[in-house]
Amino acid sequence: MRAMLLERPQPAEDSPLHLKELPTPIPGPGEIRVRVRCCGLCHTDLHTVEGDLHLPKLPIVPGHQIVGVVEAEGPSTHIFKEGDRVGIPWLHSTDNRCDYCRRGLENLCDHARFTGYHIDGGYADYTIVHENYAYHISPVFSDENAAPLLCAGIIGYRSYRLSGILPGQRLGLYGFGASAHLVLQFARHQGCEVYVFTRTPIHRELAKRLAAAWVGSAEDTPPQQLDAAIIFAPAGALVPQALRVLRKAGTLALAGITMSTIPPIDYSLLYHERVIRSVANSTRQDAREFLQLAADVPLQTDVETFNLEQANQALQALKKSEIKAAAVLRM
Ligand SMILES: [Zn+2]
Ligand SMILES: [Zn+2]
Repeated sequence: MRAMLLERPQPAEDSPLHLKELPTPIPGPGEIRVRVRCCGLCHTDLHTVEGDLHLPKLPIVPGHQIVGVVEAEGPSTHIFKEGDRVGIPWLHSTDNRCDYCRRGLENLCDHARFTGYHIDGGYADYTIVHENYAYHISPVFSDENAAPLLCAGIIGYRSYRLSGILPGQRLGLYGFGASAHLVLQFARHQGCEVYVFTRTPIHRELAKRLAAAWVGSAEDTPPQQLDAAIIFAPAGALVPQALRVLRKAGTLALAGITMSTIPPIDYSLLYHERVIRSVANSTRQDAREFLQLAADVPLQTDVETFNLEQANQALQALKKSEIKAAAVLRM
């Protein structure tokens, strides 16, 4: 099978992924082999190829927003059958035993394994997953439009939930891309007003088109204080900016897997029971709930498609904020 393989992390500009021929994987007990139709690109993939994250497996095939069709089943599978369309997200497996798993926090599992990070992912013709960690995709979505739901969407949904925002309240989004453009629609569907903080002109334009209540820069002060906010950009300098416009008891959720150093903050920005919390990965329950809600709304994903061989160019475009919302590789 064809795969875009990372052998050595390098800046995206140096095209770290190389097209290779790899053996087609064989599904083990409980596993399915999925013929990949498309795979979304995520900022985590960028952190992977550039080596910002510690990489437990090298070489690795990145990609964790996979939409494909079940092509072969290993022994003792019973959820999916050949020909079913499935989605595969970041959470690839958990131990189901540790303290976190038992507390309903499998996203924090001590032995969690992630797609395109511990296990070869979706920048390839085929991938393997245990059927307990794959999901049916509603026919409401095309393959390309479904792909960004699988990380951008699910992590956005968990961030939204953990921000504690209630229907009708005001939500701030810092950094606008694949995740934020879905959260904006979802929040509006819940009756929230959404305030978008971004400098990038194409992102501002999309936020306005999706009916953001207000669009500005992080240094700007919106006309109203916000009940909650989510930072998607990996910039720690945004934390004091966001706290500055947050109401008393408001929560600031940090959705990224990495963030630059958060500058010292004056205690008065945090006082009055404001909360800062990070969001890490997501649970299978998050995935199931979100994919159902996404189909009910239904959410519109704005995608730009690239061929598998163009994975480096797609990551470069993502890095330079040239992608309006979400980028997807088509096999
Ligand atoms: Zn666990
Ligand atoms: Zn991701």
